Amino acid sequence: MAIAKEQVRMNEQDPSVRIKNFDEVPFGYTLEQAVSESSRCLQCKTAKCVLGCPVAIDIPAFIRALKNGNLYEAAEIINRNNLFPAITGRVCPQEDQCEKDCTTKKLGDPVGIGKLERFVGDWIIEQRAKGNFPIPEIKERRDEKVAIIGSGPAGLACAADLARLGYQVYVFEGFHELGGVLTYGIPEFRLPKSIVKEEIKVLEKMGVKFFVDFPIGKSLTIQDLFNDGFKAVFIGSGAGFPKFPGIPGENLGGIYSANEYLTRVNLMKAYKFPEYDTPIKRGKRVAVIGGGNVAMDAVRTALRMGAEEAMIIYRRTREEMPAREEEIRHAEEEGIKFLYLTAPVRFVGDENGMVKQIECIKMELGEPDQDGRRKPIPVEGSNFFIDVDQVIIAIGTVPNPIISMTTPGLEVNKHGVIKVDENMMTSVRGVFAGGDIVTGAATVITAMGAGRKAAKSIHQYINGDL
Ligand SMILES: Cc1cc2nc3c(=O)[nH]c(=O)nc-3n(C[C@H](O)[C@H](O)[C@H](O)COP(=O)(O)OP(=O)(O)OC[C@H]3O[C@@H](n4cnc5c(N)ncnc54)[C@H](O)[C@@H]3O)c2cc1C
Ligand code: SF4
Repeated sequence: MAIAKEQVRMNEQDPSVRIKNFDEVPFGYTLEQAVSESSRCLQCKTAKCVLGCPVAIDIPAFIRALKNGNLYEAAEIINRNNLFPAITGRVCPQEDQCEKDCTTKKLGDPVGIGKLERFVGDWIIEQRAKGNFPIPEIKERRDEKVAIIGSGPAGLACAADLARLGYQVYVFEGFHELGGVLTYGIPEFRLPKSIVKEEIKVLEKMGVKFFVDFPIGKSLTIQDLFNDGFKAVFIGSGAGFPKFPGIPGENLGGIYSANEYLTRVNLMKAYKFPEYDTPIKRGKRVAVIGGGNVAMDAVRTALRMGAEEAMIIYRRTREEMPAREEEIRHAEEEGIKFLYLTAPVRFVGDENGMVKQIECIKMELGEPDQDGRRKPIPVEGSNFFIDVDQVIIAIGTVPNPIISMTTPGLEVNKHGVIKVDENMMTSVRGVFAGGDIVTGAATVITAMGAGRKAAKSIHQYINGDL
């Protein structure tokens, strides 16, 4: 039977409606849509999709079960490798991972693996709430304690696997809420916080103990944890320190890092004013500098916070933008203005020290740099000004140095990322690390993959095999 060339479309909120609310944009598949999309999978013998998934979900098997209407089996298959499918199904950059080499692409769209995973993930949450789907079984409880620093995707995935192996797992989180970027960075309209909470709840039910408002390096050091009887430590503290462009005027009022802006809106719920009285500027002409997912989240948030004009300033072209295609499309549909081949050279303030203009310069693309991306080169004499009343900088992040500064012998590179060996062990024995703190800013699923790999190594280490 010939398969449909196009993916089953997921219904979404209309752009004119959604720019006025923080509700999730896509509605998710119905069962009928999910079964129909799963019938597009060719069930390849050598499944390249699995190789593209950093946690190696048996994708053809779960899609087959779904196609046959066996949701319980599909859920079990996914949960073997990933306890967070409702999260990853929503935020994984599938086009660069599992869907990248999907054979169906030769005939049309790739199979919507992420959309199907999201469907199964949501089904699991629904069924667990009714007591119809179990919490993963823990065969044998062990006495050894393992400490996890940070409750982002890396820490959560590591905690999940260690809990399944029976360890006493303690997660220490510096913020007052769990989830890392899933909670403080990615906005509600892309990843509802209720979904993050539900998937974390599973870990709590498995016996993982969470401590919030507990920054390691301040409350306790890693050495204190060992003195307290922990057998191993996993650092999953992310890369949450913002970078700035280093140009004149960047300390003016009304200029935020994306990190601070999104944290105020998401974690501290500034969008729920007056229920939450979090101070934040609601700019009318907002410019976001950058072209990644963080920039798209910031600009779309600014629009929902009341901006009349919200724009992206990016020094390359649409083609080179690192943001997910879906996020760019959503931003375009919502009326975000894109200024490509443009870079800021200085910010201009008014008499009260608030930003009022950005001086920009046009760029052109030169030869590819070491990453293979064409290097932007300023076009001399092309400077121009843009009127703004708020600027959000989203040009990348680096790790917070608090842990490396308080852990003697912990080696980091010149960017502050922690060095690990092939088993994810750092230069300090018994201390492992993974996620953005090792790779620099990356993706949710690569952080989860790293957390899982570290859990395996921690198990070997505690058993004396490493
Ligand atoms: C706005 C935004 C949007 C993004 N969108 C996507 C997307 O759509 N898809 C995607 O795949 N990726 C996306 N990413 C990237 C992705 O979220 C990260 O790569 C991923 O979260 C990294 O996981 P992590 O566990 O290493 O770190 P984090 O998620 O940063 O979690 C680290 C946690 O450690 C805590 N911590 C730090 N220091 C300490 C300490 N000393 N003691 C205790 N706790 C500490 C932090 O508070 C934080 O909660 C996005 C990132 C941002 C910022
Ligand atoms: S976890 Fe992410 S990469 Fe893996 S199959 Fe799911 S959507 Fe694809």
